[in-house]
Amino acid sequence: MNTPDVHALERPEDKLIARLSQDLSGYLDQNQVDDCVRAYHFGAAAHSGQFRKSGEAYICHPLSVAIILAGMHMDANGIMAAILHDVIEDCQFSKQELAHQFGVEVAELVDGVTKLTKIADRTQAEAQAENVRKMFLAMGKDLRVILVKLADRLHNMQTLGVMPPEKKRRIARETIDIYAPIANRLGMNNIRHQLEALSFEAMYPHRYAVLCHALKKARGNRRKIVDPIESSIKSRLEQAGLVCKVSGREKHIYSIYQKMHLKKISLAAVVDRYAFRILCDTVDNCYRVLGVVHNLYKPIPGRFKDYIALPKANGYQSLHSLLMGPYGVPIEIQIRTHEMHLMSESGIAAHWLYKSDNGKTEKIQARANEWLRDLLEIQKSAGDSLEFIDNLKVDLFPQEVFVFTPKGKIIKIAKGATIIDFAYAVHTDVGNSCISAMIDRQLVPLQTKLENGMTVEVVTATFARPNPLWLNYVTTVKARSSIRNFLKNFKQIEAINLGRRLLEKELQAMNLQLDIIEESRLQALLKSTAKRSLNDLLEDIGLGNKMPFLCAKQLAQDDVSANVKLHDNDNVQKTPLIIKGTEGMVITLAKCCRPIPGDSIIGFFNPGKGIVVHHHACRNRTTLRKKHTNWLDVEWSADAVGDFPAELRLEILNQRGALATIASTISHLDSNIENVTVVDQDAQICIDLIILTVKDRVHLAKIMRRLKELPIVLKITRVKA
Ligand code: MN
Repeated sequence: MNTPDVHALERPEDKLIARLSQDLSGYLDQNQVDDCVRAYHFGAAAHSGQFRKSGEAYICHPLSVAIILAGMHMDANGIMAAILHDVIEDCQFSKQELAHQFGVEVAELVDGVTKLTKIADRTQAEAQAENVRKMFLAMGKDLRVILVKLADRLHNMQTLGVMPPEKKRRIARETIDIYAPIANRLGMNNIRHQLEALSFEAMYPHRYAVLCHALKKARGNRRKIVDPIESSIKSRLEQAGLVCKVSGREKHIYSIYQKMHLKKISLAAVVDRYAFRILCDTVDNCYRVLGVVHNLYKPIPGRFKDYIALPKANGYQSLHSLLMGPYGVPIEIQIRTHEMHLMSESGIAAHWLYKSDNGKTEKIQARANEWLRDLLEIQKSAGDSLEFIDNLKVDLFPQEVFVFTPKGKIIKIAKGATIIDFAYAVHTDVGNSCISAMIDRQLVPLQTKLENGMTVEVVTATFARPNPLWLNYVTTVKARSSIRNFLKNFKQIEAINLGRRLLEKELQAMNLQLDIIEESRLQALLKSTAKRSLNDLLEDIGLGNKMPFLCAKQLAQDDVSANVKLHDNDNVQKTPLIIKGTEGMVITLAKCCRPIPGDSIIGFFNPGKGIVVHHHACRNRTTLRKKHTNWLDVEWSADAVGDFPAELRLEILNQRGALATIASTISHLDSNIENVTVVDQDAQICIDLIILTVKDRVHLAKIMRRLKELPIVLKITRVKA
């Protein structure tokens, strides 16, 4: 390395890296410290020419973030990630580049921080703070990502000074809504209180100043009272042979403000008590200390709390007591071990960062686990509510993903969920009518699995309805039951309607009508078919389980004579069943010949499924005739509208772009290609099967004609079986 000149030594970044190296040497190996210094040089070069609003070189910011984390004994990779946390975002370095330079782990961490930053930038968080927090925790798969982000925010809050007030307020609001609660959830009270105080100052500079001043004044007045109490406690403890640390305790400025604000009380009322904290080495000694102070000042009845035996929900442990001090002043006492204190200040960081003096970096998640296990242990022994742990577990090992709607709202959904699940999560109607979807503005299949941070847009159509195949993809209970329900109801209603139409048609041929049939005859029919109601019978007919002709005949039986009188000619013309093709569940279009409006068609009963409509010229027809004795005449309704699939077989020249030309010709004619299969090809010719949607025969003929005109198309035929 070159010898730095005198001026360079005075640069703020030099001071910072010197300080960081020193801090790191306290708990890392020399080669790890060297790696961090290498990351600094890389980062400094990457950010060269960039400056903070304060005028300092940009690298001072990531260095400061690293120093905050070194204070928590963050491991070497975490420190390097902190130093490099802005290079992907601000300097266009790729993740691969970083992985190459500093290893995959560091690259992953930096990438994770970058993603969180992007999420934070795009959300107007207030209304959905809880979800943003969860999304954060869910996305920070590695806890170090969250810690780097918290330290990043802390340093940004510390250096807000030069920002315009409006921007300050916005950032402060976000800090209060998102970052401080995350710190709280991880038990990192120290960071949380710093974030809160800085945000309070930025949002309400005047209130902050007034309150600070008032607190300072109060503190001055209180010294006269506090000091003698403190020394009496100390000397009593010494006499008892207890080694303890006694200190006066100040409440945090933001919690004071909140109390005043929410409870509408004066500062004096909030800080009317004198608070002390006594730290000692063992749990046993905590109780001894309690005995000593209770002996010194009278405890106020009902105000003693044993949070050591019965910890608070977030794992907090301490003994609390309210005493009557000299001149009748109330004294609050907190007694706990040093370890409990560390836990209450630094939470998860206390547990796994301070303990990592063995040099080996364990997997962070494993340590988070350990922390949770400890909390769980505490909770169990206390027999307290496990709600907090459950929440935390969800956050740290998320079973959920968080995605955006196009309007920026966050939807929470189970891990592994697809777009269809998402659609049902938004609303049952959205699910029932979704036809396609976009993720981050790209068209994707409906069964695409969701990942954190995606923006999902569902396209719906009024004629759309759930596809039974969806049941193979969906993972959420809501989607599954909604689809089942819809299909069940839909099929039932469809079947009843079709059954009615079929029965009416048969009755008509006998010159009868269903609604004027005598009740007794209807009952007789229901009895002989073992059906409870007319609808049950109609459903069965619609599903192809009962022959409409036989049912009609049975209804007409007693009336045969009358019937014959009215109808003496035998060749009664049966009217065909009119279909629209979009009926859905009980009338389906055969896939072998794909009939479209305009085709002459025939229907076959398929027991349990209803009617399958085939093209009259379907090659399977003879086989079907043999298999299903039960067929009927069907005809297209004049107003059959929709997109009907038809299949074409094309022989085209095997040349580049041929398929694209065909696809664009088809789409210009207002049709969609649903599927293309290459069935055969050699150097010259390629044979494709194309399924496309058309409105009717005329539409299809037009498309075929236009395709035939293309020089690349050699032969074109419609596939009917
Ligand atoms: Mn940053």
